[in-house]
Amino acid sequence: MNTATSTKKHVFAFAGGDGKNKKLLGGKGANLCEMTQIGLNVPPGFVISTAACLEYLDSPSRELPAGIMEQVHTRMRQVEEQTGKDFGSADNPLLVSVRSGSALSMPGMMDTILNLGLNSTTLEGVITQTGDRRFSYDAFRRFIQLFGKVALSVPDEHFDRQFDTIKQRAGVTEDVALSADDLREVSERFLEVVAEATGRPFPTDPFEQLEIAIKAVFNSWTGKRAVDYRRQFNITPDLANGTAVNVQTMVFGNRGGDSATGVAFTRNPGTGENKLFGEYLVNAQGEDVVAGIRTPKAIDRMADEMPQMAKELAELRDKLETHYREVQDFEFTIERGRLFCLQTRNGKMNATAMVRTSVEMERAGLIDKREALLRIQPELLEQMLFPSLDPNVPSEPVAQGLPASPGAASGIAVFDADRAEEMGKEMGRKVILVREETKPEDIHGFFAAQGILTSRGGKTSHAAVVARGMGKPCVAGAEGIGVSVERREARVGESSFHEGDVVTIDGSTGKVYLGEIPTVEPDFTQELSELLGWADDVARLKVWANADLPDDARRAVKYGAMGIGLARTERMFNAVDRLPIVIDMIVAETPEQRLAALDKLLPLQRADFQDLLEVMAPNPVTIRLLDPPIHEFLPDEHQLKRDLAALRSLSETTHGLTVLSGSMGLIQVPDEHRTQIDAARRLLDPALVEEVIAKKEAMLHKVHALYETNPMLGHRGVRLGLTFPEIYEMQIRAILEAAADCAKKGIEVQPRIKVPQVCTREELVRVRTYVDTIHAEIERREGCPVAFEFGTMIEVVRACTQAGSLAEEAEFFSFGTNDLTQAVFSFSREDAENKFLPLYNQAGILQNNPFEVLDDKGVGKLMELAVTWGKEARPDMHVGICGEHGGHSTSIAFCHRIGLDYVSCSAPRVPVARLAAAHAALLADQ
Ligand code: PEP
Ligand code: MG
Repeated sequence: MNTATSTKKHVFAFAGGDGKNKKLLGGKGANLCEMTQIGLNVPPGFVISTAACLEYLDSPSRELPAGIMEQVHTRMRQVEEQTGKDFGSADNPLLVSVRSGSALSMPGMMDTILNLGLNSTTLEGVITQTGDRRFSYDAFRRFIQLFGKVALSVPDEHFDRQFDTIKQRAGVTEDVALSADDLREVSERFLEVVAEATGRPFPTDPFEQLEIAIKAVFNSWTGKRAVDYRRQFNITPDLANGTAVNVQTMVFGNRGGDSATGVAFTRNPGTGENKLFGEYLVNAQGEDVVAGIRTPKAIDRMADEMPQMAKELAELRDKLETHYREVQDFEFTIERGRLFCLQTRNGKMNATAMVRTSVEMERAGLIDKREALLRIQPELLEQMLFPSLDPNVPSEPVAQGLPASPGAASGIAVFDADRAEEMGKEMGRKVILVREETKPEDIHGFFAAQGILTSRGGKTSHAAVVARGMGKPCVAGAEGIGVSVERREARVGESSFHEGDVVTIDGSTGKVYLGEIPTVEPDFTQELSELLGWADDVARLKVWANADLPDDARRAVKYGAMGIGLARTERMFNAVDRLPIVIDMIVAETPEQRLAALDKLLPLQRADFQDLLEVMAPNPVTIRLLDPPIHEFLPDEHQLKRDLAALRSLSETTHGLTVLSGSMGLIQVPDEHRTQIDAARRLLDPALVEEVIAKKEAMLHKVHALYETNPMLGHRGVRLGLTFPEIYEMQIRAILEAAADCAKKGIEVQPRIKVPQVCTREELVRVRTYVDTIHAEIERREGCPVAFEFGTMIEVVRACTQAGSLAEEAEFFSFGTNDLTQAVFSFSREDAENKFLPLYNQAGILQNNPFEVLDDKGVGKLMELAVTWGKEARPDMHVGICGEHGGHSTSIAFCHRIGLDYVSCSAPRVPVARLAAAHAALLADQ
């Protein structure tokens, strides 16, 4: 044996171990050392290091490192001195717990052994100490079973068989109904079980028990449970290597009316209220609380019941918070009037409590603003902005889709937009619009619905994008649901739901439930405003919003947006009163017809833009000229064909009625029938039917004419604007006239015109000519200067590589990372997310979903180049991002690093982005 190792210090008293060295002492051990050293009354004990564990596991015949048991003996003597008890004595026995604990918490890696040190001699001492035979035998039989199972590998079934026999004989079904004598017999039988299974008597020498237990804990590191756990959670040796063993004095909360046990938070973890929160049980063991055998009391009651202890508990709370400077979740036991703190850790809290406690701790001088900001994960704030499902209500989802727009909602299922409007708006019911997928003509259904559920489509499907923009929950692509509009029902596996049945969707998780699950309302608190104010002070990146309608913009302002980075004008085209005009514009066969439709759209768009500019004044509003392929505004081909077939048969019917009414003279018909037939004929105007048929035929014709093999790479964006200049000219005019109107009213505004899908400078040059001509005309006519900026989306690969040349025309760049990601990966998002991305992520081929977390190595690399080249050509170039990544914290950190000026995201993500921008700035300094 190596003598160097034999002198190594492996065993550390809680009072002496380094509380920061989790690698050596394990998380639990280090924590117990720290707690002891800051003066908390921790039951005395010691830690055996992870280094000892590794040495043990490395030794060929699994021998404990030399000298370790001597060190254990020394430490145990100290514990005996501290407690006044004796390990192995019959009068005043010291019992200990033995627990594993590695650098990272691995719940369930090994069971805890309690009451080690018990044997038939020390048991007598416990009976004397506690005066409770039943408790003592119960503790003994539990110890034998746990030790037998954990340390000696005796299967539980052997014990259970004996236990059941005695229960049967005693005629009881519950363990608690067994008497002290029954439990004595149980422990005797358990001792036999161990002897039979191991071929050796149950060890009675406490130090022998301890040595076996230490080895068992060390062995558990290589046990299947632990190995699987480490594999599952990717715990590599540099994160945690070996387990420590914690040996700690047992304290009993069940030693009479002056004893108790409890758990508490230093502040309320649900509300953040600065008040001790928890429960306790007098004369009870921790297990009783967990087992729910007795109902614990609220901690407030302790002031009456045990005033001195309540005072000490309040002191303990102050000590914990002053030292850890975070809300603590701690366990305590009172043994005969002495308060012990058994464990403490940072309390898990909901977002509201996290924000409130952080702000209040800053005000109290416990932490500074930087710490307050950094301790809250930006994404957590989402909880405070959307309704969520009540976590206290048990619920089982029936289907899983994509979490396409956060928030939760319940309502009756309706299967088309008209019904949604009828039931929702007119009858005041809460509705969930359930569709296979949605189209622009469903927009009125969105307005009327609480939430949207689709069985097809991804996170950028129409349903997802529109719902996000409106801040309504949406679950998209729930493929397990079969939607039948005709039958007004949806099938989910074996069950189904029909129109009028209540369903609940959770757009934050993608889960769908049958029936109503109560939701908890969001809470944008005063503390959150204050915290986000601090965030803005330290952030370099500004946070803007993607907002298309004035209401979205107002919400964005409420959440602290400092500008609009993207207004998708197509959203304005989708409004119920606009769509027919937009369709006229699309089906127009001549420029004159198109201009007539555009003339009708102009005042509507101007009013939209004016509203947006005014809501955001004096901050910038970036309006993107029309982007999507125009066929998206038309109904789908199959629907049109079905409609036409129905209309043609209606036309036949009206013709038939006319023939019938004209043929009355041929036969004998009573007068009243004649009147009815005439009335029916007058009810249906054949000319009206023909007019609708003509319109739908024109639409169908256009649908065919506009057909593209790959529309997303086809006739859209600036390509559309250059082939139908009237459309962009109308929009440019609407923007500049709106700005002129604001200027005349004395409202300072900053309109920005943005061109989508640009791949070459020449495209910008041409659109700029439209802008300059219209701008000059408006300034001349209005007699006032109209300021604006002109810039481009950077969302195709060529735009990145040509950034230098685009910057000669563009005053700003706005990265459209949704399209850019598709282009760089050559993945279509919808197909990727529905088909292969989950597997790619699971198998580790890709670490993240690149449509959610910006791919800094590929997409990001191109962005970095574009920023560099763009700023070389135009040093004061203003650069931002408006793809969905603009609202995700890790992507925001990347945007900070490459020198963007702002991120733009949907209104409800604005608070998340503000905090993430602050994190990016604070962490970049490190
Ligand atoms: C983008 O491509 O990132 C973008 C913002 O545009 P859209 O999502 O409207 O295509
Ligand atoms: Mg785009």
